[in-house]
This record gives sequence, structure tokens and C-alpha cells, in this order.
Amino acid sequence: MNDSMRRAAAILLLVLGGVALWWAGSGAPASASANDAMVATIAAARERVAANDPRLKGASRFEEGGWIYVHLEGEPGAMGYQHGYLLAPEIEDGFAAVSAGMMHSTRRDWEFFRKAAHEMLWPKIDAEYQQELQGIVEGLRARTGSNLDVDDIVAFNAFEELPDYYVPWLNKRQMAANAPNLKSPGNCSAFVAAGSWTKDGQIVMAHNNWTSYRNGERWRIVFDIAPKNGYRMLMDGFPGVIASDDDFGINSDGLMVTETTITQFEGWDPNGKAEFARARKALQYAGSIDEYTKIMLDGNNGGYANDWLLGDRKTGEIAQLELGLQAYKLWRTKDGVLSGSNWARDPKVLKVDAPEFDPGNKESSPNARRARWDELLKENKGKIDVALAQKMLGDHTDSVEKKEDTNERTLCGHVDGSARGVKEWAWQAYYPGGAVQGKATDATMAKDMRFMARMGHPCGGDFLAKPFLAAHPEFAWEEPYLRDMKAGPWTEFRSGQSPKE
Ligand SMILES: [Zn+2]
Repeated sequence: MNDSMRRAAAILLLVLGGVALWWAGSGAPASASANDAMVATIAAARERVAANDPRLKGASRFEEGGWIYVHLEGEPGAMGYQHGYLLAPEIEDGFAAVSAGMMHSTRRDWEFFRKAAHEMLWPKIDAEYQQELQGIVEGLRARTGSNLDVDDIVAFNAFEELPDYYVPWLNKRQMAANAPNLKSPGNCSAFVAAGSWTKDGQIVMAHNNWTSYRNGERWRIVFDIAPKNGYRMLMDGFPGVIASDDDFGINSDGLMVTETTITQFEGWDPNGKAEFARARKALQYAGSIDEYTKIMLDGNNGGYANDWLLGDRKTGEIAQLELGLQAYKLWRTKDGVLSGSNWARDPKVLKVDAPEFDPGNKESSPNARRARWDELLKENKGKIDVALAQKMLGDHTDSVEKKEDTNERTLCGHVDGSARGVKEWAWQAYYPGGAVQGKATDATMAKDMRFMARMGHPCGGDFLAKPFLAAHPEFAWEEPYLRDMKAGPWTEFRSGQSPKE
């Protein structure tokens, strides 16, 4: 017998045992509680069999500082199984929240996204990531008996690119009547600095993730990945998704990676490769800024278009890859600072890929934060280190009003506090979104595969769902998914870490 037949036989035996127990204990007619007991027996049997799966060897999970740390290793299929198994409850929960958001904003049903995943994305995903995605499904099903299949998981992995890049492109092509107002998202505030800008002259990199609180409160995984091929990776991420996706990661060959999205980006190439697969591949296989750029450009589909902020700790060089679809631009330096807050700056990228974006509007969230980054980074030239970077991620200066506030224009975003919302991203007034967590590292830490991370607003403030929903019934549809987002402490994570004794 092969492994899977042995597993199936073991499950069958345990199930038969469960049925026999139920039969002996119930008499006729079968009661609801006896039925529940049988279901529980079967579920427990399934979990026992799944836990003994050899694919789980070497994998582990623990929780610290509000984060869930997961170690995955080995062959792609095994890493997927570990991911699906260890994070099964979080994947089911994350999938429910994310898919509800995708359907709500686009007014498309889930079958639409499954079809896009199956027909458009899947055929162009590299075999190793297909195996990993399939493995996630198998691990998830083994643990919980989930009904999710690989099309669900692929559509879910593309949650940043299908609803806000593919669908608007499709609506335009189909000249869809009454199409919803969809805009590419404005995710994140970040910088990378080197040379005379930092305290020790080496690279410092920091990032806070901006998204809806609904999704952001679930963006709490630290993935420590030791793949059979490619470099070791340490990154933050979302349960069930193979890329970091808000994108903060380091690899064992010295690459340091983060990004912020390009506001009002437009465009999609249905023949391109999914962004989540390219971003994962680039972190896993790029050992230099050039290699990173090459992987991201190969099959660029325009999805989740970003200004990538990169560092190579081996050379001390930093770079910004402004990755449009029709145009792109790469800046690089060993002495400088590159910041991001959702604006493009290359004239060609702006013209052909983000034509609606107005770089001159000082009051918009991207431009107001750009001005604040300029000011804050200049003020601290030569002093920037990880501790200062952490503080900057929680900065509350509104550069338009020239005062402390918590709104859509502060580096630590609290859009739920703004009557203006962010129209460039179709975030209405008081939209429950903003900075949901932060990370920072430097070249020394990256060399030992370490970074600092804080769950929740990087300033330490809490978001409370109940009073928010009471004050803003217009967001009642989020009620089943919107939870409190309480800030944890700044916590250090490293590759190969074990839980605190
Ligand atoms: Zn804050």
C-alpha cells in the first residue's frame, strides 16, 4: 500500500469504529446528540491521521506578540501541506473575510473569481507553486474537512490583484453598465535608506501595511520558509497566501524587500503571470536587485502594481523599482533614502499607467504622506536606525494641517477617523482601514534573518469594532468579519526561532 492508501484505510477503520460506537450507544431512533458525537469522532479521527502525515515533518507553529509564527520546509507540496494544516482555522476565517470583501466591492459572485483563477491564472503559475497551492488545499482538508479547492485558494491568493486590477479592466472592456467604482488600492507607507542617511551607514528598511481593518487584523503571520530550492525567507503574510502580499521580507542571500502600491494605477494583462506568484518567486530566487527586477518583469500582468523598495545587504545598495505595466523605472543608490506612500514619480509611468493620479494635489493621502516622509527623513539624516524607524511608522503628523492627528494623511493611517476618506482608492468617509501592522529591519539583523514586527497600528492605538459599527451603520455589511484590532508590542522574529519557554 502507498501512503495515501494507508491513510485512507486508517480513516475508514476509525470511521467504522465511530459508527459502531454510535450504533451500540444510540438504539433506534438516532438522536441528534448521537449524530453530533459521531461527527465529532470522525473529525477527531481525521485530525489524528492528518497530524501523523510525514509531510508535516520539521514544520511548526507558535504565537507571540499577537503574531502567529509558522516554520515551513522542504518540497513545495510538503510546504503547502504544512501551511494548510498548521494555519487551517486562520485560512478558513481569512478566506471568509477576504472573499466577502471581493464580492462586495466588485458585485461579482465567487464563481467569477474561481473561473478567473482556473482559466487565467493557474496555467501560468510555475509547477512548484502549483504544487504548493495544491498542498495548502490538502493540508487544510486533512485538518478541517474543508470544502475549499485549489480554484478557491488561487483566487484567494490573488485577492489583491483580481478585484482591483482585473475587474476594473474587464468592466472597461465590456463597457459594463453601472459598473462599481473600483480603484487600485493604496497600500502602505515605507522607506529604505543607506549610506550617510543611516546611523551605521548600512541599510535600514521599514514598512507599515495599509489595508482594510477587516483584512488587516488577519495579516498576522510570520512565515519562516526553508524551501528545497532557492533561498531561505522570513516574511510577514496572510494565512493561505504563498506571497507576503503586503510585502515585507528578507532572504538568506541578502535581499531586503518591501513596497507600496501605485495609486490610481490602471491596466491588466490577462496573458501575464499572477503577481502573487512572481513576488513569491522573486523573494525566493533573487540574490540581487537585478535578479529581483528580472523576475518581476517576466510575465508582468500589471496586478498589484507597486513601487518596490529593495536593499542588497551584500553591496549596501538600495533601489526603487517602479513597476508599471506599460512602463517601469529603476532607481538605485548606495547613499540615499527612497520612500513610498502610494505615489508614482516617473513621468512615463504616471502618463501611461496612472493617468488619473495628480502628483500636484498636496492634500491627498499619498502626497501628504510623501511630504511627511521627506521632512521626517531629512530631519533624521544620519540617525536612522531600526528603533527610529519603528517610531516613524507610528508617526501622526498631518503635513497639510501641520498638526498631530490620526487620519488618512498620517504615516500611521487611521482612515476611520477621517470624514474625507480617500477618494483616490474609493475609500468612503470613515472607511475602516489604515495602517494595520508594521515591520522594520536593518542589514545587521537581515544577515541573521531577523526583523521587528508590531501587530495593529504601529503607534500602539487600538481599533474597536463595536463602537465603530454603532457610529457607522453604513459599514454594517462588514459586521460578521470586522474585529477589534488591538496593537501588540514590537516583537523580534528570526529564522529558525522556537517558542519562548
Ligand atoms: Zn497611529
